[in-house]
Amino acid sequence: MQVVWFKRDLRVADNRALAAAAERGSVLPLYIVEPDLWRQPDMAGRHWAFLSDCLADLREALARCGQPLIVRSGAVIDVLAAIDARHPVTALWSHEETGNGWTYRRDRQVAAWCRARGIAWHELRNHGVQRRLRSRDGWARGWDRFMAEPVTAAPALRPLPVDPGVLPSARGLGLAPDPCEGRQPGGRAAGLERLESFLHHRGESYRSAMSSPLAGWQACSRLSPHLAWGGLSMREVAQATWARQRDLNRQGDAQRARWRGALRSFSGRLHWHCHFIQKLEDEPAIEFRNLHPAYDGIRPAAPDQDRLRAWASGETGLPFLDACMRSLRATGWLNFRMRAMVMATASYHLWLDWRAPGLELARLFTDYEPGIHWSQVQMQSGTTGINTVRIYNPVKQGHDQDPTGAFTRRWVPELAGIPDRHLQEPWKAGNAAEVLGRAYPWPIVDHEAAAREARERIWAVRRGTGFGATAAAIQTKHGSRKSGIANTGRRGAAADTRQLTLPLDG
Ligand SMILES: Cc1cc2nc3c(=O)[nH]c(=O)nc-3n(C[C@H](O)[C@H](O)[C@H](O)COP(=O)(O)OP(=O)(O)OC[C@H]3O[C@@H](n4cnc5c(N)ncnc54)[C@H](O)[C@@H]3O)c2cc1C
Repeated sequence: MQVVWFKRDLRVADNRALAAAAERGSVLPLYIVEPDLWRQPDMAGRHWAFLSDCLADLREALARCGQPLIVRSGAVIDVLAAIDARHPVTALWSHEETGNGWTYRRDRQVAAWCRARGIAWHELRNHGVQRRLRSRDGWARGWDRFMAEPVTAAPALRPLPVDPGVLPSARGLGLAPDPCEGRQPGGRAAGLERLESFLHHRGESYRSAMSSPLAGWQACSRLSPHLAWGGLSMREVAQATWARQRDLNRQGDAQRARWRGALRSFSGRLHWHCHFIQKLEDEPAIEFRNLHPAYDGIRPAAPDQDRLRAWASGETGLPFLDACMRSLRATGWLNFRMRAMVMATASYHLWLDWRAPGLELARLFTDYEPGIHWSQVQMQSGTTGINTVRIYNPVKQGHDQDPTGAFTRRWVPELAGIPDRHLQEPWKAGNAAEVLGRAYPWPIVDHEAAAREARERIWAVRRGTGFGATAAAIQTKHGSRKSGIANTGRRGAAADTRQLTLPLDG
């Protein structure tokens, strides 16, 4: 009996674990609902809702192969032991998972259990992330090679006399209600439709529209949750993109140039997906600790709860920031620029340690992918030591990204009486006192003064003795080789104070 343990790879096509297991005998395709995982502070009802769509879809796809998905709830080792007692397990198959600290510990326990039972656990590579990577040199070439390999077809499976089991409801799993009316539907069919519509219709204005909170909704691919939960494989997405690029290259007119530019940018981001997850794979502690230790202790470990609550619920009195957070709560998605801005505002203007706002965002993003998430959270909080410090101005971002004010007005209707020219700074409006402190709060910080103070505090750390040497070591271990930053240790004042720029932050 070959057990295929589905994790963040919820598909039958291009699933090498499933294909390899099917070549060796009877396959029991298994999803394990782990109540303890769903009790972790980064997990939420919207994740479960998206995942439930994917599992329903996977169950049908596997049934078409000959054997529907088997669902069991409980701790992985208990579930595997119960299966092994009835149908002795020869081997366990899965894809490598770069998950949160909890799944990392669980996998080590599963590995120990398999060893003790003499069960081989085959973990195959899922995407561009390489386990036990020695050096980042040549990483991008390795990504290209892996993505160019053939896509495996769905295998035929022999039916087994096993109870398929039921998928629990969110309530049954003990999850708090998490209304998200604008959430993307999960499942492979939805993912394939997003891919097709992006590559052939929606993606043309990707470059110019991606940072707009309104236009980005359509112009971005919206593939992130499908990649995060594995309904689509990165290889399928990369190959579909290359095929479309080849088609475009055969055509020549100027309009095609826009498409070509869009798909070049998109293709780069597919690399970023794995580049960021690789960081967590190589250093699981970045979910909990500053990448550069010189930042330890600069922000209070216990967050100011009033600030955190105001930020998370879109009640800071900074209209564009509040509109982004409210929109995120209702839809489960924000574009990259807006994610960077909301995180930077929590970390710089509100001076909150990144862990608590990072958890809040993890629960709000349908596409929560621990490796991308924690790397980006640290990057936007200035604690990596190797990235440009970007303190986004929430008022300027509002003017730049929402010039008509339509997005802000939609999500902050309390400002209906504030004239357009003061929408992003309602405290400057003549009628401010009629609205602020009543329907909508006064700003909880002076954002300009707060940004100045944050910049000084961050730069004081960067000027510290030894900062540059540690930063250089971090760059060697985690940095993109395309960033142009020396990847060997550099010491001295110049290296200590230099702004390190990595073109990976959009
Ligand atoms: C603080 C913060 C937290 C984030 N957390 C997550 C997360 O949990 N899960 C997640 O998938 N993305 C995360 N991102 C990255 C990025 O914002 C989203 O991937 C993107 O907005 C998803 O929309 P899309 O699929 O339409 O992206 P597109 O622009 O269409 O990009 C295509 C794909 O490339 C990848 N990608 C795009 N931008 C990035 C990036 N900057 N870094 C890494 N991969 C990227 C994603 O897989 C995405 O689906 C985070 C960014 C920030 C600033």
